[in-house]
Amino acid sequence: MIVVLSKSAGSHDKEMLRIYLRDRGFTVREQFFGEDEIIGASGKGVVDIRELGLLPGVERVAATSKPYELVSRETKAEDTIVTVAARPPLPGVMIGGSRITVIAGPCAVESREQIMETAALVRESGAVMLRGGAYKPRTSPYAFQGLGMRGLEFMKEAGEAQGMPLVTEVVSPELALQMKDLTDMFQIGARNMQNFELLKKVGGLGKPVLLKRGPSATIEEWLLSAEYLLAAGTADVVLCERGIRTFETYTRNTLDISAIPVVKGLSHLPVIVDPSHAVGIRGKVSSAALAAVAAGADGLTVEVHPRPDEALSDGPQSLYPEQFERLMRDIQALAPVVGKELLRTPHPASIRSFHGLPPPDGGKAAGQKPVAFCGENGAFAEQALMRAFGEGVPRLQVQSFPGIFDAVLEGSAIAGVVPVENSQTGSIHENYDLFLRYGDVAIVGEIKLRIVHCLIADERAALDTITVVRSHPQGFAQCKHFLEKYPHWTLEPVTSTAGAVASIAREGAVKVAAIAGEAAALAHGLKVLKTGIETNPLNYTRFVIISRRLGDRAVVPPSLGSGAPNKASLVFSVPDEPGALFACLKILSDRGINLSKLESRPIQGKPWEYLFYVDVSVPEAAGDFEKAIGELKAKTRDFHHLGAYRASL
Ligand code: PEP
Ligand code: MN
Repeated sequence: MIVVLSKSAGSHDKEMLRIYLRDRGFTVREQFFGEDEIIGASGKGVVDIRELGLLPGVERVAATSKPYELVSRETKAEDTIVTVAARPPLPGVMIGGSRITVIAGPCAVESREQIMETAALVRESGAVMLRGGAYKPRTSPYAFQGLGMRGLEFMKEAGEAQGMPLVTEVVSPELALQMKDLTDMFQIGARNMQNFELLKKVGGLGKPVLLKRGPSATIEEWLLSAEYLLAAGTADVVLCERGIRTFETYTRNTLDISAIPVVKGLSHLPVIVDPSHAVGIRGKVSSAALAAVAAGADGLTVEVHPRPDEALSDGPQSLYPEQFERLMRDIQALAPVVGKELLRTPHPASIRSFHGLPPPDGGKAAGQKPVAFCGENGAFAEQALMRAFGEGVPRLQVQSFPGIFDAVLEGSAIAGVVPVENSQTGSIHENYDLFLRYGDVAIVGEIKLRIVHCLIADERAALDTITVVRSHPQGFAQCKHFLEKYPHWTLEPVTSTAGAVASIAREGAVKVAAIAGEAAALAHGLKVLKTGIETNPLNYTRFVIISRRLGDRAVVPPSLGSGAPNKASLVFSVPDEPGALFACLKILSDRGINLSKLESRPIQGKPWEYLFYVDVSVPEAAGDFEKAIGELKAKTRDFHHLGAYRASL
């Protein structure tokens, strides 16, 4: 049982509570849990929870029905997001929430060259953290045992060169202290999951911990081991499913896919998967990795070696760099299907060129400027914003789309998030037109969000009490089949989906429901009556991130800036003569530039004249793109380069 203390609880209140609980047969333990101060009461005591809840200094009492408390969702309903190493020049890496975090590296650090080479390779493919063992718990005492502290020093150098925080295994309490300043996250290996002295020591060191599941551990035993870490003081624990021992011998272990949704239901902690140790066969690792993402894993830790055949440990399960590259592309394509985004972080080389933009830890730093979006709390745009910048980033709500551009231009927001296109209903032309009005604003990133609609209403409402449904007209259009089943409902169009939810919460209406995202229900304290009511589940909205131009350059928020831009958006009109558009498209074709979107829009005030909105790929050789732009300018009128950025798949 957990007693959460109110912020005003004084020392006298706390002492009275301790006495109250001890008198009733509990052992008490006090600690901070996130921002809350709590008293954990364990043992076979008996107490009237309502009476306890009324005592001075008590905010609420969480009675857990499980043997673990701090790790339980009953104690903390919202997902924990673990931030690893936000220390310059390393960008912070978040695990949990709406992102997929990929950790990669060799099984073991074998030499300075090997870890430097591997770090560069996995970083290039998009891994954001570096793994590698310096102390290897091997089944045979004669197998390679790791390079020890020297290996860890090589790893630190490699991580810093690539802007990747490290995770490495700690095998004894004595080593934990020595390793503390060299690693960013401790890994407790599968064999040590129930080494309780190790858990107690490592949980008290103030570093995030990756806790692997023991090969023979039940989910409950695994969560109790995590409880040891939290009870020792850390809040930052990530669970890692890495396969369990079953009667099957074809694969090294059996990946317990069902553990992912089960544990995510039982606990608020992030869950990642190690497909390498789970299957043990290189050719099966990627399938297992994708299955894990589909099942809801918050990330992966994958073994990659530049030359797996020469690896000193776990070569047969280590991916070739090309296999890892392919896997990362597949994850990027899969992530939006499960409503997530593959986490990217900036390379140190690019961080140095940023000016005053939100750090990827979510920008908790004081005085930081917000990112603007249009709509109410819980709007899809707010979800996209958090996906791009982190949950903790300060946000500025504005009432109209031009308001986002104004805020960015005046400098009251550092960036803005603007919806431009839906996969079913097409472009949001109003916003495209704004780019022409606000020439000093550029597109610096994009993000695609899967749109899952819910029917949302007051706690007391049910499907048969509803008579009116409110939403944005697009919400109605996208849920047409569902709404056809309830022809007696009156549809009330409003300007935003989250706004519909907010209005119901304000009015306390019980006969009215809204169509909006789940986040809007959470934000306004309403209930989801039905989820997934959109007709076509492949429903995505593309948002662009805008920022101010500084001369010719746009400033790129670090969380979007990993790698060179590979996509650009252009707008132009062409002379009214035969072959004019063809000539422009030929320039792109001749330079091998792929066209991913071409749309024409009437020019305001010039009847029957059109602007072309074009999205193109940016070739790796930047010079080619610059030349194409130069040639296009010569062949077009009203040429606008809206921005070059990293495409979101
Ligand atoms: C490892 O990740 O290097 C490792 C040894 O894994 P496990 O503890 O899961 O066997
Ligand atoms: Mn290994």
